[in-house]
Amino acid sequence: MNESWSARTRAILAGRPDAGDGNPANAPLVPASALGLEYSREVGTPTWAAFEEAVGALEGGTATAYASGMATATAVLDLLPAGATIAVPVYSYAGTRGAFDHAQERGKLTVRRIEPTDTDAWIAAAGKVDVLWLESPTNPTLDVMDLDAILRAAGSGDRKPLTVVDNTFATPIGQQPLGMGADVVVHSVTKFIGGHSDLLLGVAVTARDDLSTSLREARTRTGTTPGALEAWLALRGLRTLGVRLAEASKTASLLADRLAAHPAVVRVRYPGSGAMVSFDLADADAAERLCANLKLIHNATSLGGVESTIERRAHLPGDSHVPAGLLRLSVGLEDPEDLWRDVSAVLDG
Ligand SMILES: *Cc1c(COP(=O)(O)O)cnc(C)c1O
Repeated sequence: MNESWSARTRAILAGRPDAGDGNPANAPLVPASALGLEYSREVGTPTWAAFEEAVGALEGGTATAYASGMATATAVLDLLPAGATIAVPVYSYAGTRGAFDHAQERGKLTVRRIEPTDTDAWIAAAGKVDVLWLESPTNPTLDVMDLDAILRAAGSGDRKPLTVVDNTFATPIGQQPLGMGADVVVHSVTKFIGGHSDLLLGVAVTARDDLSTSLREARTRTGTTPGALEAWLALRGLRTLGVRLAEASKTASLLADRLAAHPAVVRVRYPGSGAMVSFDLADADAAERLCANLKLIHNATSLGGVESTIERRAHLPGDSHVPAGLLRLSVGLEDPEDLWRDVSAVLDG
């Protein structure tokens, strides 16, 4: 891969078979539990490898694919010794927060919770804990962490914690945390990388050889292996990530501006780029009423697909800290004016 090529170009080129007569243009779908005397759970398959090569080329490291974003988190947590201390955001993806709580309740981890935007507290924690688990922007409140400052502090202290960044919302096109000094980047491929709401998959990427070996071993040990079709579909999705994200970001920015100017909207949370916009209406009723009356935007959990989806997250037990009127909008590829008409027709009414 040419070093000067941008992430968008790498997404198109990486993970293809060598060009040559008789070779397929795309990585083939290979459903196989064994490759001769080798077992797939241990050595992977050519389809997983093609997907991993492509994500690795985008993030700048070696990638290992797992069955889902949560399977990826499970494999990373499996590397930690019993009793490890881990600093995590107070507000972030409910699934990983649930996994941290579960591990703490069973005495496996000691969890410290820090406000995502309290950079000083993260820097102070870097010298005291074994792991920093970062997520930016956060799901669903879209808080932006100062990854650069936190990772720099973590890498320069005497006690260097393992640093993990959940990069699901930014995508590998939006930011590459390994380049800022992160040890491991994790993704829910289910979301933007897959991009079509048709699969569950996860991936971990690291530039450290020791960690890459450990992450593969963790996959083998925990059996958190991806499906063949999922890896193949995700690679197909990844090819268009650059253009999908560019287009959805443009629309998201336009919607964020118009929402901010609307009197029914209390607060807009938009980090300035990316396809996620969260916004607060007055209360749960107002938010539910909007969801119930939309004609175009789907009421659906999950995010990152070509179709726009919306959800009032506070209805979930794991997200009960989220403001009751907060709506998380995942902006897809529909015409921006159609999307705005859909939302504004209800807000105006
Ligand atoms: C969805 C999500 C996950 C979990 O991924 P799954 O593929 O659903 O297991 C992890 N982190 C973030 C930020 C997510 O949005």
